[in-house]
Amino acid sequence: METFAGAPGSDGDVAVLTEIVAGFESVEAALTAAQVAEVRLLARAGRLAEHQAAGAPVRVRAHDMALRSIAAEVGGVLRVTDRTVQMRIGEARDLVETWGATLTAWETGRITRGHTRLIADVGGIVPAARRAEFEVEAIERCSRDTPNRVRPGLEILAERLSERSFTERHRDAAAGRCVRVVAARDGMSDVVATVPTVIADGILDRLTQQARAVIDARDADEADAPPDLRTVDQVRTDVFTDLLLSGAPALDPTAHGDAPGALGAIRAQVQVVVPALTLLGSDDGPADLIGRSPIDADTARCLAAHAPTWARVLTDPVEGTVLAVDRYSTPWRQRRYLQARDQHCRFPGCRRPALRCDVDHTVDAATGGPTALGNLAHLCRRHHSLKHHTRWRVRQRGGGVLEWTSPTGRTYREDAPTPTVHFLPDVLPTVIPAVVAVSEPAPF
Ligand SMILES: [Zn+2]
Repeated sequence: METFAGAPGSDGDVAVLTEIVAGFESVEAALTAAQVAEVRLLARAGRLAEHQAAGAPVRVRAHDMALRSIAAEVGGVLRVTDRTVQMRIGEARDLVETWGATLTAWETGRITRGHTRLIADVGGIVPAARRAEFEVEAIERCSRDTPNRVRPGLEILAERLSERSFTERHRDAAAGRCVRVVAARDGMSDVVATVPTVIADGILDRLTQQARAVIDARDADEADAPPDLRTVDQVRTDVFTDLLLSGAPALDPTAHGDAPGALGAIRAQVQVVVPALTLLGSDDGPADLIGRSPIDADTARCLAAHAPTWARVLTDPVEGTVLAVDRYSTPWRQRRYLQARDQHCRFPGCRRPALRCDVDHTVDAATGGPTALGNLAHLCRRHHSLKHHTRWRVRQRGGGVLEWTSPTGRTYREDAPTPTVHFLPDVLPTVIPAVVAVSEPAPF
């Protein structure tokens, strides 16, 4: 550990602090230079994809394939998924091609990365003709204060320069409506729906009214029933999940006259890995919701208990490779085995659950590739088409190991994930049919 000469609080200490602060200054400059260089490289990668696709008969699709392939190549080096790289390429191109003066201000240290993001984000609504005007003013304000403090002023400025009405902007914003799940801690997740404000308020109001009705009804219940002590928040959440998991949408294009449509009959599917000891109840370790995050042992056991059929997979305790699968008819057995072996898409870094993937022939069946375990692997739609339409190549090296080769010749070894046992229940207490996987070492 470093020791400092001189008495505590002396001039010697001030000299050391001066040196540390100067160090930060030069590190900050080096970081900025590296980050700006990365932004420029990402933007170049995006332009290269566009160039590659020029002249292709189906330009939009060709551009997307070229971009995916390049993003996967860059992702391999940066060790992030190609989806992430593709998003960052989009942001980088926006900065380089639309916000040049802002990028220069960042590069020369007038503003920071946070300011740069803020200007590009808030300035999105400013029409091209007035962008330069906005940029000059925004950079000036950013150079004097932190991003959080400048944001409100910049939002007002952008609003003033924007020629579009609130109605027009709302129409665009509503086109970006979406639902996503964000993993939280302790086996919980947030379901986030971005919807028009009036719909959001309506949803909360209906849930609240329904929750109050549930609470009123329970007061009238017979006395010998176990007491329902749920809070309004809890009941509201239970009604919300119940409606979404078991309800049928009012507008169902598959309905004929008064006959109900097919949408209400569709059941949710999730894919879970449970360690064998947890299943037996001798261990309370968490199970794994494939592609997401851990779930608690009780939920995992509940899922497994309601699985009418399942295939057990024995695994080598040392190598971890799959040794045997319980008896099933061949196609089923093969599919179960593959789901147990792969668990998720087998492109490097991808975690899309096998349940939502295609089974791909590594060597195409049309060119003589057999429908055998050593020639099959799960790929999500995105990576399935990447394999077929770009210069990414894959080989099977035995034992479920896949070797991917990028267009520039870099190779990535993709080992099979921890082997597992699979269940395929039809119905759960909470109407979630699921694929449950149990990892279990071989008994020797
Ligand atoms: Zn994938």
